[in-house]
Amino acid sequence: MDIIKLLPDMVANQIAAGEVIQRPASAVKELLENAVDAGSTEITVVLKDAGKTLIQITDNGCGMSESDARLCFARHATSKIREANDLFAIRTMGFRGEALASIASIAQVELRTKRVEDEVGTSIQIEGSDIKLQEPCQCNNGTSFLVKNIFFNVPARRTFLKSEATELSYIMEEFQRVALVNPGIAFSLFHNGKQHYKLDAGNSKQRILAIFGNGYAQKLVPVETQSNIVNITGFIGKPEFAKRTRGEQYFFANNRFIRHPYLHHAVVNAFQDVIAENTHPSYFLFLDVDPKTIDINIHPTKTEVKFEDEKSMYAIVRAAVKQSIGKFSLTPSMDFEIERSLDFAELKPGETVKVPQIKVNPYFNPFHKEDQVEKQSFSHKTPANKGLDQWEKLFPKEQDYIAPQQESLFPTQNIESALDDTSAEKETAKYYQLQQRYILTQLKTGLIVIHQQYAHERILYERYLKNYREGHRAVQQLMFPQTVSFNTIDAELFASLLGDLQHSGFDIEDFGKGSFIVNGVPADFDNHSIQDVLEHLLESYKQNLQGMDGNKQKRVAAAFARQMSIRPGKILGTEEMRSIVDLLFACSTPETTADGKKTFTILSYEELESKFL
Ligand code: ADP
Ligand code: MG
Repeated sequence: MDIIKLLPDMVANQIAAGEVIQRPASAVKELLENAVDAGSTEITVVLKDAGKTLIQITDNGCGMSESDARLCFARHATSKIREANDLFAIRTMGFRGEALASIASIAQVELRTKRVEDEVGTSIQIEGSDIKLQEPCQCNNGTSFLVKNIFFNVPARRTFLKSEATELSYIMEEFQRVALVNPGIAFSLFHNGKQHYKLDAGNSKQRILAIFGNGYAQKLVPVETQSNIVNITGFIGKPEFAKRTRGEQYFFANNRFIRHPYLHHAVVNAFQDVIAENTHPSYFLFLDVDPKTIDINIHPTKTEVKFEDEKSMYAIVRAAVKQSIGKFSLTPSMDFEIERSLDFAELKPGETVKVPQIKVNPYFNPFHKEDQVEKQSFSHKTPANKGLDQWEKLFPKEQDYIAPQQESLFPTQNIESALDDTSAEKETAKYYQLQQRYILTQLKTGLIVIHQQYAHERILYERYLKNYREGHRAVQQLMFPQTVSFNTIDAELFASLLGDLQHSGFDIEDFGKGSFIVNGVPADFDNHSIQDVLEHLLESYKQNLQGMDGNKQKRVAAAFARQMSIRPGKILGTEEMRSIVDLLFACSTPETTADGKKTFTILSYEELESKFL
């Protein structure tokens, strides 16, 4: 006896529905996408009980003919692809033709639709895949879907739905994703009679602000890059607004929200050195690629996609984000020279993409005249070399200290002359130490306040990393080797760091049983207590264990930089302050410490003036 039978349509649809429609939010997503595909300029969502009782989506798009209105509920009924080849040129949201069939199999659906060219529209009622009624009706141009009592005939699914608040938040998420990528369409959303969103048509930035609040206006910087593989537009959140909780992180590819852990990593990587550990950057990135090079078919809800050349995409996304961070995260007065757009040559198959380099003028110094900065060429001494002679001055003998100059308290220049101040050069710049903690000095555009410890941490961090990479070691051999000891667990960890510490200029031997003999310390070790420094170093290394991309070198450098940095309470002379400022701005990422703490802040003259109004 043959035992194989074809499943009845209704059952097949319900099975498909299990994949496509998991919860009210999935129905909202599919209906919204259909409305977008229909070329609508205005879409309204009405919900009751987080969509469990009612989902109504009304659009002013192209509408359907009488027979299409009936056919749209059939499985694999789609107007969007006709042959297999069309799959490689998809620009619409839907194409599988199974959403409406799925929804109709698990809910009571009413459709009203009318095309502009038709006198009357069509109304259809369908319930569990059964057409209950079809008749002509008077209605507006466009389409309105009413989905009632979702999962009414699949009680198991209904009981698995989460609380109303949770289901509603899923819906909001889908709504936001569609709204974000279609700023030219006006959207509104009502829940239980209350309007939650009214989004006017506008541009991308206006849409983000309308959804997430006007506070975002200050937090976003644009991203834009063009290449033959992908065009990227959008925004990233400034590093200082990175959040403890996973913030707004959106990728869209060809107008579709996508999840892409690999590209997400590219963004996180670009932010790596400028945000604190365990904080998350926000981003809204719109990728536009040739539909041929993207496979959106690998998951029924189409959020997981595959790009043809993911490696290059990674490099480009990372470079674009890095560029924007460099270009915009500082105040406008920090005018780093960065190439405007990234250029990519035509790629031949098999060729790899060169990662675009970001050109930051390492000599940029807010205390230089602009033309001076421009004249300096990149072939000069490297910034680290340049810093080195000044570096010596950082730790002069006690008697060398120059007391903070009294006059620097009261700059003689008035505001007007300071604003177009071309004389605010290094030589005449005044430095003032506040609370033995901050360095104050003036820029052309305002007052800069530098955190002496954090600035020094950044300087040392980059120096250690550089030495490390280039294999420079400046060891100062101790006349009397010292013993340090740790408990068993710490000793094991410490032993694993010996190689890295060696690179940083330590000369340490493992003596067994938790004891280590220190024969030499880095040249600039000063009078620090060796046991203290090494203990703290281990402590901050442990704290950093999860962060910093698992890069041991960086963690050791960061921990060491923190230990060796000058502390608040240390009185600095003018030369030392000048030196810190110079060295800081010779760093590749002067804005933050290795673990993301801000090193300086700028109070512009406008801000200052506004405080006197
Ligand atoms: P898909 O979107 O994958 O084509 P659906 O099941 O979501 O499949 O929709 C089936 C078809 O119904 C669509 O291809 C489209 O022709 C038509 N359709 C659905 N919703 C609308 C709408 N809001 N306006 C006009 N046509 C629609
Ligand atoms: Mg669809």
